[in-house]
Amino acid sequence: MSLPTDEENSALLLTSYQTLRQTLLTRLSSSSSSSHIIPPLPPPPSLSQTLTTLPDPTSPTYLHPLGPSATLAHLHTSILPSLSNQSLTPLYLAFVTGGSLPVAEAADNLVSALDNSAQVHLPYHSATGFVEDSALRMLITLLALGEHKNWPARTFTTGATASNILGLACGREFVISHRLPQNDKKTVAEMGLLEACRVAGIKKIQVLTSAGHSSLSKAASIVGLGYSSVKEVRVSEEEPWRLDLDAVERELERGEEDGVASIVVISAGEVNTGRFATGVLDMPKLRSLADRHGAWIHVDGAFGIFARVLPKTDDFLDLHAHVAGLELADSIALDAHKILNVPYDAGVFLSRNAAITTQVCQNPNAAYLTPPSTTTTSSEILPPLNIGLENSRRFRALPVYAVLLSEGLPGISSMVARMVRLARRIASFIRDSPHYTLLPSSSSSSSSDPSALTNTFIIVLFRARNEILNETLVDKINALNKIFISGTVWRDQKAARIAVSNWRCDVDRDFEIVKDVLRDVAESFSSP
Ligand SMILES: *Cc1c(COP(=O)(O)O)cnc(C)c1O
Repeated sequence: MSLPTDEENSALLLTSYQTLRQTLLTRLSSSSSSSHIIPPLPPPPSLSQTLTTLPDPTSPTYLHPLGPSATLAHLHTSILPSLSNQSLTPLYLAFVTGGSLPVAEAADNLVSALDNSAQVHLPYHSATGFVEDSALRMLITLLALGEHKNWPARTFTTGATASNILGLACGREFVISHRLPQNDKKTVAEMGLLEACRVAGIKKIQVLTSAGHSSLSKAASIVGLGYSSVKEVRVSEEEPWRLDLDAVERELERGEEDGVASIVVISAGEVNTGRFATGVLDMPKLRSLADRHGAWIHVDGAFGIFARVLPKTDDFLDLHAHVAGLELADSIALDAHKILNVPYDAGVFLSRNAAITTQVCQNPNAAYLTPPSTTTTSSEILPPLNIGLENSRRFRALPVYAVLLSEGLPGISSMVARMVRLARRIASFIRDSPHYTLLPSSSSSSSSDPSALTNTFIIVLFRARNEILNETLVDKINALNKIFISGTVWRDQKAARIAVSNWRCDVDRDFEIVKDVLRDVAESFSSP
């Protein structure tokens, strides 16, 4: 049997892509014509239908070849109808997911077609390394993080979780190194955590944070610090997202005598409320504390760091104050697949400390992976495989590059501003509604306090006033399949959470849909 020709393969790909675009256009236009509503989730019957078409391990034809044409037909007719419209509707408001800008999708297809691995930066071999670095530089400028050279160890990751793992791994390396005897030539990476801590006289490494994301605890486990190393130092239970700087200072001082080393992690922002750990003067103070005590500062800015691209108008000044100074951190984690609206999976890790980052991620003893020294034209670009988790990896920079090139700073700024404005319209409606309570309510942000709105980024947390309705609120809202939201727990009670993160969001149109759903659910409950 001969291989298909290039013409046959090309025709197969074109047909598949044309079918896909046609199917999606039908989904988008049939809904938008009448009500503008695209059901976020696939209908349950198509989901159960799909499950019956998956390969059956007991069948005699299990793993018999189906061939590309029949396989693609199966993907289009059986799998596609059961995938959610997460990217197609701006009203998939659960988690923080983002969608996929068309230019990013096109770039992503190019990445798959050429399948270059952005692993070793070989300047004569492929442009991948240069394009990646160009995307990272644009991102550093977009987020106003200072000069590109301040972030020499910059790389793409699979997401903020991977970036948080890198942040804690670098933090661990740094805080232990800082206490190793001057004459000790071995690095933490060589010795490993246990021996290095023993030599450095460290009994414990703690991660000081406020309302840290779950992935931070996961990262702490993976890098050998353990969940229990994550220590919440919050200003108060009313504002658990705010970092208590006095407590951080006490911990750092105490740590020097007690053999405790610290990594400080800034939640920018917190995933339930979208609120931020720091205020306008906090980062310079934290920086000098960390320098004095040999601590490492990592920012988990997965979605929140994008507040820095908002216009500097009055309505966004509160948010700007909460993301001020983040450029003073030692390392930063952020997601491109959320607010930046590129396809999964794409995150970024930025580190100021090239020596520490390389020490942690270096492939030792792999001469064949080392770029020849003649290729020093690119000396500023560190080999991706020595500053990140993966060795072989996808050229995932290209969709980010395409979005930054296509939208520029003004385009991204107005996209994020639209997200914030929609979130605030919804928050304002909830605040004034007789049926709902806008959270987080605290003494300092009572229902009439305007800061409840000016501090709203892209997330709206709320609950139903009626406790019985509140028990099933999220299910009732999602059952209508007009919007899709997440449930969570806030101060020991169930709560609902809306996160606006799709480039398609339209403030007026989408607000009307969300308002109608929230009103219908509340009114049909109170008048059975
Ligand atoms: C989403 C998120 C993460 C995890 O990011 P992934 O892209 O899912 O790996 C970490 N921190 C915060 C604050 C997040 O919102």
